[in-house]
Amino acid sequence: MNMKKMTAVLLAGAMTMAMGASAVMAEGEVEAIKAAGKVVMTTNAEFEPFEFKDGEEIVGIDVEIAKKIAEKLGVELEITDIAFDSLIPSLNAGKADFIAAGMTATDERRKNVDFSDDYFNASQTIITAIDGEVKSRADLEGKIVGVQQGTTGDIYCTNEDGSSDISVAEVRRYPKGMDAVSDLLAGRVDAVVIDDFPAKKLVEKNADKIMTLDEAMTEETYAIAVPLGSDLTEVVNEVIKELNESGEMDKIVSAYISDGTDEAAEEEASSDAA
Ligand code: GLN
Repeated sequence: MNMKKMTAVLLAGAMTMAMGASAVMAEGEVEAIKAAGKVVMTTNAEFEPFEFKDGEEIVGIDVEIAKKIAEKLGVELEITDIAFDSLIPSLNAGKADFIAAGMTATDERRKNVDFSDDYFNASQTIITAIDGEVKSRADLEGKIVGVQQGTTGDIYCTNEDGSSDISVAEVRRYPKGMDAVSDLLAGRVDAVVIDDFPAKKLVEKNADKIMTLDEAMTEETYAIAVPLGSDLTEVVNEVIKELNESGEMDKIVSAYISDGTDEAAEEEASSDAA
């Protein structure tokens, strides 16, 4: 290879790297996914009922929705399980095609990803010890609060932008909601702030010691995140619309959110989706 040609090759390589994998792929992402024969969902599978491990398998509401997205694209679904606060960087490094992780669509995140239409209304719920001091939302003032690192619960309690009306004394951040709950059970934090349905699942397992408060911290909505400018948004929105219109979304949600007594419905929804 002569010098001139080599410089050109190096330059082209540098430019591609500078643009980033996602920027290169974003516009024709749907085509690239179809060509690859698989679509990659990334998530943090510590968020029952949206994504959690059932043995080796990752299951949950978001997985059911993702299966429909894969079906619509006519490709296989692959799931990667990583830390919640790595999801957006991983997507933007081109390691995944979309994030389905009970992720709240916030303006701050919109700087780095595009969100689909909302598919779920959630709220940040307060978990406290039954015999503890926190009996209301206002009681969080000056308390030690456990959260899952990088989540909206973390952002709201940390209150860097001053938008919260509550000033907690300290925020302790954990990789998993379950770890925060363990510290609540051990008396190391006064409360845990986490999304409502995961909160319910966490409390169910220790209902004799902890409880959720009726009063929520904040209200939010979940959406699926794709790289900025990706044409995958339209496909995801179509799937969400179809699931809503056919009543299938309700079926999926109630299968996972029923109080655990309705195993039959859960099985039905997963076999429907398979
Ligand atoms: N909904 C919260 C957020 O987006 C938590 C999501 C999660 O922990 N998977 O930050």
